[in-house]
Amino acid sequence: MKVIRKVSVMQKVADKLREEGKSIGFVPTMGALHQGHLSLMERARKENDILIISIFVNPTQFGPGEDYRRYPRPFEKDRSLAKKKSVHIIFYPSVSEMYGKEYSTHIEVEKLSKRLCGLSRPGHFRGVASVVCKLFNIVKPHVAYFGQKDYQQLRVIKKMVEDLNMEVKIRECAIVREPDGLAISSRNSYLSSPEREEALSLYRALEHAKSLIKEGSSVSDVISEMERIIKREAHAKIDYIEIVDPFTLEEVKTIGPGKKVLVALAVWIGNTRLIDNMLVKRKRGQSHFLL
Ligand code: AMP
Repeated sequence: MKVIRKVSVMQKVADKLREEGKSIGFVPTMGALHQGHLSLMERARKENDILIISIFVNPTQFGPGEDYRRYPRPFEKDRSLAKKKSVHIIFYPSVSEMYGKEYSTHIEVEKLSKRLCGLSRPGHFRGVASVVCKLFNIVKPHVAYFGQKDYQQLRVIKKMVEDLNMEVKIRECAIVREPDGLAISSRNSYLSSPEREEALSLYRALEHAKSLIKEGSSVSDVISEMERIIKREAHAKIDYIEIVDPFTLEEVKTIGPGKKVLVALAVWIGNTRLIDNMLVKRKRGQSHFLL
């Protein structure tokens, strides 16, 4: 396994691999690798000749006052986990390597970036789209893997790839959860043990929403039930709970039979902002109104 820190070297290596006819699978990450990242790597390794991951805590996707500085950076641990997953190359650039003097180009994916997390994190998806575009130009993957854990990010990236005619294929990977249901995240390490308990309310609220939606409950009833579950926790503060169209991320007003929706939420547990979501399909052949 190689660790490459220079953009020019990574590009040369990628060119050579492509010339040799190797397919490149790519998993971009911010490091602090966990089972969620590893599941993406396993799939990418299976589906491609070469697996490249990137580890880069991208400053431009953090807002002022967010956790850029304290974000975990356990590189040696990440290196050994990557090695166990048979990663061929870790692309591990410095901030100055990625953003030279007077860096000034950004990608704005309109509409999708303004919804859900975009409201409380203005500029976040601009930072994400821009860095992912740069990484694609550097690593030159045939296929890139993203987790549904960051569902909005996935939609933004797919839209960017479509709109800019990028030649990379995007694969969506299911959310990996702890045995008790908590979605695995590098930020879970910020939680104290009582907060860790409270964090489970996100999953409980989503599971409850799923059963209500399947049976035909209204959007407003589902959301108030979810709020009720979250608000029981002493240190929980809801950023948003929304039921949206999985493609446009626009709020849905009604959930007709057979319709698929995304239930998404962001909740502060103490000083830690957690996100989670679930794709839910309402059963067919039922009416909301009992006649
Ligand atoms: P991050 O390091 O948080 O930027 O995440 C890198 C990639 O791993 C993104 O595509 C995430 O969506 C994905 N990811 C993070 N956590 C999980 C999880 N629990 N399950 C599946 N994918 C995940």
